[in-house]
Order: sequence, then C-alpha cells, then structure tokens
Amino acid sequence: MALIVQKFGGSSVADAASITRVAERIAETHRAGNEVVVVVSAMGDTTDELLDLAQAVSENPSGRELDMLLTSGERISMALLAMAIRNLGVEARSYTGSQAGMVTDEKHGSARIVEVSPNRVRAALDAGAVAIVAGFQGFNRGTGDITTLGRGGSDTTAVALAAALGADVCEIYTDVDGIFTADPRVVPSARKIDRVTSEEMLELAAAGAKVLYIRAVEYARRHGVTIHVRSSFSRNEGTLVVNPKEGETVEEPIITGIAADLSEDKITVVGVPDVPGTAARLFTIVANAGANIDMIVQNTSTSDTGVADISFTLPTSQAKSVLDALEARRADIGFESVQYDDQIGKIALVGAGMRTNTGVSAKFFTALSDAGINIEMISTSEIRISVVTRADIVNEAVRVIHHAFDLDGESEAVVYGGTGR
Ligand code: ASP
Ligand code: MG
Repeated sequence: MALIVQKFGGSSVADAASITRVAERIAETHRAGNEVVVVVSAMGDTTDELLDLAQAVSENPSGRELDMLLTSGERISMALLAMAIRNLGVEARSYTGSQAGMVTDEKHGSARIVEVSPNRVRAALDAGAVAIVAGFQGFNRGTGDITTLGRGGSDTTAVALAAALGADVCEIYTDVDGIFTADPRVVPSARKIDRVTSEEMLELAAAGAKVLYIRAVEYARRHGVTIHVRSSFSRNEGTLVVNPKEGETVEEPIITGIAADLSEDKITVVGVPDVPGTAARLFTIVANAGANIDMIVQNTSTSDTGVADISFTLPTSQAKSVLDALEARRADIGFESVQYDDQIGKIALVGAGMRTNTGVSAKFFTALSDAGINIEMISTSEIRISVVTRADIVNEAVRVIHHAFDLDGESEAVVYGGTGR
C-alpha cells in the first residue's frame, strides 16, 4: 500500500465528463489498496474567466477580494469531484485549503506556504476515504484571510501535501504525457523525457517550461518529494522528477530539453556613468520596485565616453513600475535615457551533462546563425545557455535548436487537451 497524492489540472477537470473520467481513475487507485489524496485546480479556464470578471468591475481589485473570488474556482471542482467519486461507491471528502491546514504568509496573490497541518486529510485517509483538497489556496493565521499561492499554485499545494503526509509519490496529471524535450505544441517531434533531476527541472521551469511550476519544483527539491508528471488522458508512464542523493551518480544526458518564454520584456538604461557603484544603485532601484530580473548585460564603455549601457529582462507585468522608478532617479544616477522593448523572447537549452561536455555553446550558436537568427543577449549557468531574440522568431529558434541537438523522438507527441491559455 502506498500513499499517493494526485493533482489534476484545469484541463483534466474541464467539464462533467472529464470529472467523471478523473473520478474513475482515482477510485481505481483507491481500490488497488492505496491511500489517495487528490488536489484539484479550477475547471478549465475558470481562473482566467474570474480574473476577466474582476477586471470588468474594477481596474485595480483588492488582493483580498481577488483571492476570495479566485479560490471559488477550486471549490467548485473539489466538490464535484468528491460527488463523482462517491457516485462510484468510494467514500470521498473535499476540503478547502484552510480546512486542509495550508497555512501561508499574508501576501495576497502570491502567498508562500509557511506550515502544512493536514490533520483532517490524515483523518479522512484513516477512515478509508479519498481526501480531495482545493489547490492554490491557503489562509493566513494573523489576518484570518484566505490567500492564493500564485498562478499554477495547485502544483505547489500537491507537493506540499505530499511532503507533509510523507507520500510515496506526487503525481501531477496534465494534458500531455510528461515533460518533453520542447513544448510539443511548438515542436511536434519533441520526445518525452523518462527521468529528469529536480535541478534540471528547475532550470527548465525558470526558463519558461509551463508543465510544472517553479515553486512546486523548489519545494519538492527541498523536501525530497518525487514528482511523477503524467497524462490524465492516457495510461502511459510519464516523467519522474527525482532528487538524487549526495554522491549518488545518475547518468546524465548532455541535453535535457529546451524551454522558451515570451512573458518577459527588456529594459536598457543608456549612458550609465562607468564608475564603481552605479550598477548597485540601479539594481537597488529595480529591486525596490519589486521586480524579479533575469538576464543582465552591460556593454563595455569606450574610454572616451566613460558611459555604458545596461540591459536586463523582467516579467512584462513588472515593467511599468520599474520604468517609472528609473525615470524618477535619472538625474540623480546620471544616465541618459531608458529604452523599453516588449518584443523579446527567451530560449534556454538545459542539460546537466553540459558541465562536462565541450562544444555545446558552439553548436547552439551555429544552429541559430545558420537559421539567420540574431542573438541579442546571452546568459549561462553551469547547466543552461539562454539567449534573447525577437519574439516572433522564438518558436522557429526552438525548432532549429531541437533539431541541431538531435532531440527528436520517434513519433509525434500527443497533446490531449487544454486551450494553452
Ligand atoms: N486555478 C489556478 C490557476 O489557474 C491554480 C492552478 O491551476 O494551479 O492558476
Ligand atoms: Mg489553471
């Protein structure tokens, strides 16, 4: 007997028929003698639709009320799923995030989990029931208010419950068969990866791979939770995200996969005085504006000008406040101007084997240059190479690199559902 956490995303519970199908799968796991905890997302695109509704009544809705609104999506799917499972003769009980003991800090819209006390979930399992928990939500002890964990937060709920309950595995069900060498919607010949380390998965998620959310992977890595990403539409084995122990050797492919990200913009600060301390001051302004910056590039100043240009990338949603903050301090820092570019895309190639293999960057840049793709920024880690290009050629760049590194699989990847929204 195992304790299994199963998380079903919005596209797996998009309508009544899908909920029934998922219920059968859960009942089957339960009948096989396992203890089953289920985490659900809101049905289909419910969360986006609720956000649109909020926008329609208020340009700047309060975080508290937004969280009240959005958490209702998961409440619908958890109750329906519990009903569907009971209908199959298996006892099931649904719990909101707060009932399941998901305690968070008080930051509405992107709360962090500070404690997980799933007493009622444990009691439901002890009583032989399947426990269903609403994903993406928690509550703060101080304010007594309901919080959400940020978009895609149900993955984190599932991993956190798996850690707190000491589950054997955390299964994340989605609309593709696992983690692929590239987004199968962009590269139909992408190959499913059987096993990936959480270190590589973190790089892929940070670089824009949407199949797993970065905070869930971080949590799993910290707490040693094994994640199994698989399809709720097929019986195929998916991808295991593992945490090799210190000293344990794993056979590492040179390249794991490619991720792309169109959700970032580029800001260039032009004519920055090339003296010690300017970068520190600039990025303090940026940090105080609340931005998570990613790539940074500074060009060298020529000796006769004594000024440099500094470019960095950041999420589109944070660009406005950073631009305003920089503009307000222009005279004080002494730079010439700020340029803003919202038509960039990022592509990252990830693989733990890069650490010990030469020639990866040469092949990567050659593939892009053969396709006539111009590179605007470059950054690397031990196991990743990332570049910025024009947004409209990102998909082509992904395909070109995928091909250059022979990542193609034998058959076309199947995308079972979802609108990709
Ligand atoms: N329903 C939430 C969202 O769409 C949480 C989740 O799906 O994980 O972001
Ligand atoms: Mg969703």
